[in-house]
Amino acid sequence: MKGGLQRSDLKQLLDTTGKEMELLLRRGAETRVREIGGSVHFRGLIEFSNICDKDCYYCGIRKSIPSVRRYNLTDGQILEAARFAHENRYGSLVLQSGEVESGSYTRRIENLVREIKKLSGGSLGITLSLGEQTREVYEKWFRAGAHRYLLRIETSSPELYRMFHPADGDHSQERRMECLHHLKTIGYQTGTGVMIGLPFQETYHLADDLLFMKEFDVDMVGMGPYIEHPETPLFRYRDKLIPPGERFSLALKMIATLRILMPDINIAAATALQALDPLGREKAIRVGANIIMPNITPGKYRNDYSLYENKPCMEEEPDESTGCSDLPVNLAEGEIGYGEWGDSIHFSRRKEHST
Ligand code: SAM
Repeated sequence: MKGGLQRSDLKQLLDTTGKEMELLLRRGAETRVREIGGSVHFRGLIEFSNICDKDCYYCGIRKSIPSVRRYNLTDGQILEAARFAHENRYGSLVLQSGEVESGSYTRRIENLVREIKKLSGGSLGITLSLGEQTREVYEKWFRAGAHRYLLRIETSSPELYRMFHPADGDHSQERRMECLHHLKTIGYQTGTGVMIGLPFQETYHLADDLLFMKEFDVDMVGMGPYIEHPETPLFRYRDKLIPPGERFSLALKMIATLRILMPDINIAAATALQALDPLGREKAIRVGANIIMPNITPGKYRNDYSLYENKPCMEEEPDESTGCSDLPVNLAEGEIGYGEWGDSIHFSRRKEHST
């Protein structure tokens, strides 16, 4: 990368502590406000099913955990949550689920995207986070009206990826990369992300993750700390983890550094931050993130979308029918861009340059 931050610079930033770290975090915050303004945008998050065909070693909804109560919201429940997001002027929502590839699943999502567009008069922006699919499937969902897609690469290191996933065709890093390329060429605002603080992960791996995001030229990023889950294979390495406080700081440093590296992208304050600090998402906003995804999944299902220990907002009872009690507490009203899509400025610039 000519003239920009190199791997060694990024590693150095991620290794900062004390006053130097404070300075980095302040730079992240200043860069956000200077480059994209002070607004924070909401994406109402609907985790509509925890049924998953994958077996990732870190994930609490991997297919081979028998104790997970599997659920699948009805279309009516999903549309009700979407109506809630619309009426409360969230601007956008995210549909997320475990990973399933089938004709009926494809048709269902296509139909839901159209219905959500209809019920909001076209005004709700839709992000999908539904894992790896074929190019044709991504095209169908794009034509139906979804315009952003979040597919975390989890780690850009082939070595770590192999360590954290079964060695079979269903868990190939190459396919995940290929999917990201499809999403970008179809025209989605394309998002990726990684887990921070995985066992055996060093800061140079994280520096490489940031370089990957820059080189791929992503429009949005959602990245957060890895949190151990007792019923997953990776739990056996819990004594190799950095302490939760340090993991949290590392996640904040990743956000601030990424903001400096890619000033005009959208960066989400990941829910997992809140598992380590009750004000985790608000703190992420204060160092460079600009997107928050309040959970609007009906309350009684939230316990079953348990990706990791201590996931926030699990016990909350639904407030009315949609269970939204997951609003960030420490943001000024004027900061929230109600009713706006809050699209990635990086995406619009990328499009302008390509035409
Ligand atoms: N199936 C879709 C996919 O793979 O893109 C979306 C659902 S998946 C459960 C959403 C994200 O949860 C993953 O990309 C992963 O980064 C995150 N995740 C899973 N287990 C986690 C853990 N133990 N700690 C932190 N994040 C985790």
